[in-house]
Amino acid sequence: MKAAGWIGVGIGALVIALGAPAQAQVDKRVAKEVFGRAAGPAAGQSRAFGGYAKGCLMGAAQLAATGPGWQAMRLSRDRRYGHPALIAFIKRLSVKAVKVGWGQLLVGDLAQAAGGPMLTGHASHQIGLDADIWLMPAPKPNLTRRDRERLSARSVVAADRRSVNKRWTPVHPLLLRAAADDAVVARIFVNPAIKRKLCREERAAGANTAWLRKIRPWWGHSAHFHVRLHCPADSPGCTPQAPPPPGDGCDEVEKWLTDEALAPKPRKKRRKPRRQLTVADLPQACRAIAERLKRR
Ligand SMILES: [Zn+2]
Repeated sequence: MKAAGWIGVGIGALVIALGAPAQAQVDKRVAKEVFGRAAGPAAGQSRAFGGYAKGCLMGAAQLAATGPGWQAMRLSRDRRYGHPALIAFIKRLSVKAVKVGWGQLLVGDLAQAAGGPMLTGHASHQIGLDADIWLMPAPKPNLTRRDRERLSARSVVAADRRSVNKRWTPVHPLLLRAAADDAVVARIFVNPAIKRKLCREERAAGANTAWLRKIRPWWGHSAHFHVRLHCPADSPGCTPQAPPPPGDGCDEVEKWLTDEALAPKPRKKRRKPRRQLTVADLPQACRAIAERLKRR
């Protein structure tokens, strides 16, 4: 009797140890460690959950490494996943790119198989609605896998950081315009010097500058542009970003290009290192995905 009682307690403890705390265990983990090692997409309907810099992706689609109008770079990173709306956008843009005389796109990072924070790089790109596209057309013939790891994107911003350099061509604005004109696009991040160049050209030509509202200045982004899509209709759990302020943003960009703004800033010492996002910090749907995710 007594021995059987002990066996019962033992089995009970075992069941508890294996069952209920699984979510609690994964919740404590650093989110990028979990999502950065996903073996494949989270199964289910395509849905973006959370915000661009704190969320995840279910039912991701994968961009082919090479398509009729694009070549994806850094294949070893395995970041060619996105919401199907993002993959469709890249395909549409690649068709327009050929039409405007750009040629094939070089596509950089999209998202990880299940989205989420990445082990290296980007704070955003977490919900399958962000894409980096190089500011240089793909060379011909197609790049080898090896070249896609080695080739670096070349900056189109001049050393003075206020203007563009000789790598800028008349086709650059046409490609950026084609991207901005797509209704699914919410904003496009480019270096402030690029935004200024676009503003000056369009104003000098007396063109309608309304499309420049979506072109947002941000540091870096001198060798690639970053496209961010609106939350898709199928993803009520996706957190939209506030729309850009009204207007073309052409006066505002000058604030990024003053001596003061461009002066190197002394590195401020952070009192505490920034806390890493844990799975528990992510939306509920992402926590559940993390718990089911197969790891590489
Ligand atoms: Zn980006």
